[in-house]
Amino acid sequence: MRDDLQQPHYEQARLYALRQLNLLDTPPSESFDRITRLASKFFGMPIAAVSLTDADRQWFKSRVGVEHREIPRLKACCGEVADESKVLVVPDLLQSPTYRDSLLAESGIRFYAGAPLQTQDGYTLGAMCVLDTQPREISKEEVALLQDMAAMVMAQIELQHAFGRIDPLTGLPNRSQLAEDLEDMARDAPGRQQYALFTEVLDSSQVSTLNRVMGPTYVDDLSRLAARGLEEVLGKDQRLYSVGLCQFVHLVDDRNDDELIEGALRLRETLLSLELLREAPILVHPVVGAAPLCLGQDKPADVLRTAHSACQDARLTEAGAGLYSQALDASHRRRFMLHSDFRAALNASDQLRLVYQPRIELSTNRCLGVEALLRWRHPTLGEVSPAEFIPLVENTPLARPLTAWVIYSAIAQAESWHRQGLAIGVSLNVSACNLEEADFAERLLSQIRQADLPASAIELELTETALFEQGRGAWQQLDRLIEAGIRIAIDDFGTGYSSLAYLQDIPAQVVKIDRSFIKGIDDMPRSRTLVESMLSMAHNLGYRVVAEGVETQQTYDYLQALGCHEAQGFLMSRPLEGGDFERWLASSNH
Ligand code: C2E
Ligand code: MG
Ligand code: MG
Repeated sequence: MRDDLQQPHYEQARLYALRQLNLLDTPPSESFDRITRLASKFFGMPIAAVSLTDADRQWFKSRVGVEHREIPRLKACCGEVADESKVLVVPDLLQSPTYRDSLLAESGIRFYAGAPLQTQDGYTLGAMCVLDTQPREISKEEVALLQDMAAMVMAQIELQHAFGRIDPLTGLPNRSQLAEDLEDMARDAPGRQQYALFTEVLDSSQVSTLNRVMGPTYVDDLSRLAARGLEEVLGKDQRLYSVGLCQFVHLVDDRNDDELIEGALRLRETLLSLELLREAPILVHPVVGAAPLCLGQDKPADVLRTAHSACQDARLTEAGAGLYSQALDASHRRRFMLHSDFRAALNASDQLRLVYQPRIELSTNRCLGVEALLRWRHPTLGEVSPAEFIPLVENTPLARPLTAWVIYSAIAQAESWHRQGLAIGVSLNVSACNLEEADFAERLLSQIRQADLPASAIELELTETALFEQGRGAWQQLDRLIEAGIRIAIDDFGTGYSSLAYLQDIPAQVVKIDRSFIKGIDDMPRSRTLVESMLSMAHNLGYRVVAEGVETQQTYDYLQALGCHEAQGFLMSRPLEGGDFERWLASSNH
């Protein structure tokens, strides 16, 4: 017996190789049965089998003339073939000291010949064997033929295994193979640090644009060419995987960041020099992202995800190559989670609520109204600020139900206050796209009517950009609302559109000066000048002016002296729950 074959680690690796093939205990298949039938016929023997040597049994993938699916490995001739990795011929089992009292001999078998089933890596998985109930001799040519049949069986096994592991387009090992290789490497070197480099020639939107403009064969050709180009730079020792259309991954040993980026940029250069890429009618930007991984700890799917995340970050920053950033990744994942969970929040009874921040009239010190502000208590993330989640859903189809929810809740609250005799106006924040809903104005007005509220009880806040970037339909909605007596406020005034010319024809009655200007009033003369100019201009144009973010008495007094109409800010009150607002109103002198 060969020394290395005796080593326990050989047997361990052999069994691992066998299990990797996922052949054990699978149903019979014609592709193997065909070979065993041929063997039985050719050798004129009643029994032929493809026998795989598991830890303690011989399991038959294919068999002719045998009842059992498996027999114990102990004293099985095929077990010896697996141990020795060479052809075994036993002309008469009853004459053999080893097999005389074996199960095979007891069941009437006299002759055995088996050829090893050997993988390309040199592991013997079992035997291709023929058996007879008579003692026999076998010629050299017949042994060679049995070996050929064993090779045919192995070709079949390896072909079946490769199927689903090779990307047919590039001929490169695919994602499944990468996963398997990572597992293999983890077995050999658990805990070793590596980097996965993700090279993306095109992103998915570029793929679809190119498919549309150039036809799908262009992208296929590009993928193939890129694969060859990358393989050439990486050399023979480096395995390149194709993990998606125009997406490639390879693994490198742990190294410092500079070396990684340098290597990544070299790959990128190679891609940029591809002739086909230069023909593309749009600019194609290949990017490379690198993410660290620890063998045995990081799951293959996570490795792919983090490396691709690095790639996408590199694309966003237009850097060409970049390293995985946990912080950026976490923020993308959080954004994605918030976005996808918001629909459920709209349907849940306990996640969304409105809070109300008082607005004080500066000439009288009285509270005339409140701004309704949305709050979201996420079931696992806790309180999430509207400044974080509104921009995520604002430009999606969820903007409509979001605003519908706010309108419904705010009108219910306003109705309750008006019933109690509190003439409090409620100001609502509305997104630009809400104005694109053809029935927006009508729905709002009908809800106000149903609640028996005067139109003046509701005000809508829209940012400058929202107001300005809308088409004719939106202006019609606004006109309809104003005509019915609803006030429109320009929110965050001063932060959006750079030209003030639009103020001439914008259909709004109120401007809310953004708090970024107000907060500088106490100690920045420039802010004071700006606020003074905004105020005088807004006054002259007939707007009612509200200052947002008033936090100090000094600011309050200053704005009062300037003739600003209203103020809103933490000085007077933070946003409050409905009931708390009622108590605040009763106890304060507003
Ligand atoms: P906004 O409409 O400009 O609302 C004012 C924001 O300033 C509120 O933040 C408020 O809590 C905060 N604020 C008020 N006074 C002060 C102050 O004295 N100091 C400081 N530092 N902050 C003050 P909030 O509630 O986090 O809302 C942020 C933004 O989210 C809002 O800005 C608005 O654009 C958006 N938003 C809130 N609720 C809704 C909603 O129901 N629908 C829509 N479309 N957007 C909303
Ligand atoms: Mg607002
Ligand atoms: Mg604002």
